[in-house]
Amino acid sequence: MGTTFNVTVVEPPAALDREATAAGVATALGEVDRRMSTYRADSDVSRFNRAAPGAWFAVSAGTVEVVAKALEVHALSDGAFDITVGPLVDLWGFGAGSREAARVPGEQELAAAAARIGSKELAVRFDEPALIKYAPREIDLSAIAKGYGVDRAALWLQGQGITDYLVEVGGEVRTAGRNPERHAWRIGIEAPVLQRGAAIAAVAVSGKSVATSGDYRNYFEVDGKRYSHTIDPATARPITHGLASVTVIADDCMSADAFATAIDVLGPERGLALAERLGLPVYLVVRSGEGFEARHSSAFEPYVEDDSGGSR
Ligand code: ADP
Ligand code: MG
Repeated sequence: MGTTFNVTVVEPPAALDREATAAGVATALGEVDRRMSTYRADSDVSRFNRAAPGAWFAVSAGTVEVVAKALEVHALSDGAFDITVGPLVDLWGFGAGSREAARVPGEQELAAAAARIGSKELAVRFDEPALIKYAPREIDLSAIAKGYGVDRAALWLQGQGITDYLVEVGGEVRTAGRNPERHAWRIGIEAPVLQRGAAIAAVAVSGKSVATSGDYRNYFEVDGKRYSHTIDPATARPITHGLASVTVIADDCMSADAFATAIDVLGPERGLALAERLGLPVYLVVRSGEGFEARHSSAFEPYVEDDSGGSR
């Protein structure tokens, strides 16, 4: 997945030492990477991407689980979340298949790539796990597989009888039980300095997952314009609105990861409207003039644990 992981286990079982725990988690994450990476020619994803349309293509049950969730979030987000954006991601220079450095593609290239986008042409099958595309499509699970990896690692820890832990992969987090101080786990939200409103230092999230999507880490600039690695399928272009980051809380990290990207694409207004409609806890950092402004959905309210003075 091209990233690092961290695991904290409180009072591990006697039989499980540090190395065995790290190895178990690494195996769980490695399996997700092996199946879902676009950087591996032999992954489920790469093989499905090379396959011809119109026939069921056997993949692992895990890959079906992730694609099924991706299709669900695609429908709920009005198409904002779309794992078929691969050709556009490559064209804009952010994908495994990108040959050239980041640049602004021409209209014709964009139109040609856009014609190969759209999750409506995909379907999944759970018994005899398989995927099918009804038209030429390539899938890219980068916006959801990290979260799924966190879930797989967490399930492995639970299988070892571990009840108090925190798993983090590339910034996406899942927690259970208590932290080493015997308190609820608290997650800091990485936010640019806020000019207006109080910065939220941490949210209390024991038993929950937290994922963040944002344009302040992975982007390029041409002529002072910022191009995010998140693509709006409706325009075939990187998102351009004023969202600096989106943080989503959910029971499972796969959902949190996918919805963070979906809301990032939708932007502050439509994104918050979706969060309200689904009762999803969401925290947004919005660019505002020279500074930033924080907003959150109603369902986020119980998680706010403001220790910077004055709550909002
Ligand atoms: P990060 O956590 O690094 O911000 P995300 O979870 O937002 O990453 O995923 C970004 C990646 O997802 C992109 O690099 C691209 O491969 C893919 N992607 C870009 N746009 C979309 C989209 N609209 N829907 C689904 N996946 C996308
Ligand atoms: Mg994501």
